Amino acid sequence: MNDLNKQFCAEIISVGDEITSGSILDTNSQWLSMELASLGIRTLYHSTVGDELKPMVDVLTQATQRSNLIIVTGGLGPTEDDLTRQAVAQMLNVPLVSDPEILKHIETLFKNRNRVMPDSNKIQASFPQGAFPIPNPNGTAPGFDIQGENLKSGRFRILTFPGVPSEMKEMWAQTSKKAIETMIEQSNIERHFIKTKLIHCFGAGESDIESRLPHLINRNHIPKVGITASRGVITLRIQAESCDENNCFQQISETVQIIRDKVGELIFGEDSQTLASVVCEQMRKLGKKVGVLEWGTQGYLAQKIEPDCFAGGSLFAVKEMFTPYSIKALAAKLFQGTPADYILAVGPYPEPMTDSSETDQKNSISAKNKTQLTNSDSRIDQPGLSQSTNCGQASVCFLNCETDQFMENHFVFWEHPSIRDEVYSNRALNLLRNAIIAPNVC
Ligand code: ATP
Repeated sequence: MNDLNKQFCAEIISVGDEITSGSILDTNSQWLSMELASLGIRTLYHSTVGDELKPMVDVLTQATQRSNLIIVTGGLGPTEDDLTRQAVAQMLNVPLVSDPEILKHIETLFKNRNRVMPDSNKIQASFPQGAFPIPNPNGTAPGFDIQGENLKSGRFRILTFPGVPSEMKEMWAQTSKKAIETMIEQSNIERHFIKTKLIHCFGAGESDIESRLPHLINRNHIPKVGITASRGVITLRIQAESCDENNCFQQISETVQIIRDKVGELIFGEDSQTLASVVCEQMRKLGKKVGVLEWGTQGYLAQKIEPDCFAGGSLFAVKEMFTPYSIKALAAKLFQGTPADYILAVGPYPEPMTDSSETDQKNSISAKNKTQLTNSDSRIDQPGLSQSTNCGQASVCFLNCETDQFMENHFVFWEHPSIRDEVYSNRALNLLRNAIIAPNVC
């Protein structure tokens, strides 16, 4: 990576009271960051500012001092609170100038819609002096593209787009993406590549996985490896950067190998794969179907199974215990017509656990081992997982109807109620994965 590349970075500014007040989420910055990464441009800052001139000028000024490419979305409408044009003009100390061609285009848009153009729309044909309009095929608000120089940080380029995501995306794809690519090709900025790979794990906590990969999850590590946890799934995000695309791929494959060596048994997928997608893919290969019994998870688990792998599902509370016999009997009643090869069951578990450990995993292979479980019919009165207050226990089971292989895991709740359905559905899917996919096959 040369010095120029080290310095070249982007900043995305989203404008609007709707965003700063929390009414809408800024999805434009997320999308644009990914687009910029695909061009090899690092985004170092996301800024958000309300519809007020002075704060907008301040944010733009700061952006020009630290970033080379500044992308602004929002604030290009015709109303008084749409101030992006004025803010850029003020920051650059240039006047707003009307573009007769764009004005004609906006007038034609109104005429074609059989509407009289309000005077306020004229402002949409005005741009800071020196700017090039970015056509908007789907709306009345064109964007603009303008360059400037900052004594501190050198040259910068500002691109502005309307806030409406569909308009912004099309304008980016039709005009600005190519313009940025051309700029990179024609300048002495060496082509830079940023490649990302996601590795998904299940079955251990974030800190546990981190402790098994201490040297990887370090800010100075090349490539960068980040770790995030969501609903029990731990994702390792590998981001490689280089002027040589193959070098990025090599960095990634070496890092993936280290991760496989250290936590391979926990890895279930990569990139867009989910626990549900990998178990369904395997069931399809094996020609098998799974039936689902759920207590209080609102059908969450059943919804995750793809239709061609699904034997049937039930939200019924049952009086029987989770045993291979009770589950089989229930399945025979419930999944008539579509025999289930496997059954997953998930729900609250009423008995206090004898083991004080937080996660008591009682895996048993055959039905005989289940005799230690007490007979209870109190499941039927249990509130659903997500309705239960702070503490309680859940049980997740897998049964292979052909071989009678049976596994039951008990857990003490500690997750927030709003995510329990998903966490315990994932735990059930992970049991199925352990049963039908050899660890570390992906
Ligand atoms: P116009 O007013 O002509 O529609 P504009 O450039 O003024 O365009 P805004 O008024 O800021 O755009 O936003 C229009 C709509 O676009 C918002 O109501 C919101 O639904 C959506 N929007 C704006 N900014 C964002 C953003 N950063 N992320 C996602 N959606 C956005």
